[in-house]
Amino acid sequence: MIYKMKSRNLGILLLSALFALTGCSSKSDAPAPSAQQKTVVPTVCVYTLGKVRNDLQRAMMDSLRAHYPKCRLAGHLPLPDSALTTKRNDHRRYRADLLNKVLVRYKSDTTIVVGLTQADIGLDNFRGRPHSGIMGLANGIGTGVAVFSSYRPRGNGQLFSVMLHELGHAQGLRHCPDTKCMMQNANGGNPFSKTNVFCEKCKKFMASKHWRL
Ligand SMILES: [Zn+2]
Ligand SMILES: [Zn+2]
Repeated sequence: MIYKMKSRNLGILLLSALFALTGCSSKSDAPAPSAQQKTVVPTVCVYTLGKVRNDLQRAMMDSLRAHYPKCRLAGHLPLPDSALTTKRNDHRRYRADLLNKVLVRYKSDTTIVVGLTQADIGLDNFRGRPHSGIMGLANGIGTGVAVFSSYRPRGNGQLFSVMLHELGHAQGLRHCPDTKCMMQNANGGNPFSKTNVFCEKCKKFMASKHWRL
């Protein structure tokens, strides 16, 4: 909760600063509040969920910084037992939808929140199966919240692709019909072993959200 309050305070400070900067212009010159908000680039806040190796954290933050102007390692959160799937007694797997419900508490108007975990994550009653393991999940299209796991992807390159795919959803992209695009539906497979690029259309959308891909 501390992080959420900090982000909100920061948001208020930023808005106050914007108003202060435009304070000299006449009323007719002042942009509408909605136009001002559009200029604020949200910060991608990465939270680790459970124990995450330092080199993994560093690799994801370095890759993120190379493609997005504002990002930070925002905090470390425990993996709540309440998010464990009840459908596996032999294996600890956390429900990605419930982890997103934890992450959403840290979201503010000026942030995008993404959770990184080493734990296995999955969904119950997904694709006609009682339980499935997955690589990542956005809380919804354009909601600005997502979680991803290093349990299934092979190597940091694939892991970063999973992160970008879920951030794509979090920013507003749906699955892409282009089979060369990394926003394609994984359909239970791992498309990131074949592609690590966005198609021109998805790239253009992400560019409008300040991503350099
Ligand atoms: Zn997807
Ligand atoms: Zn695409």
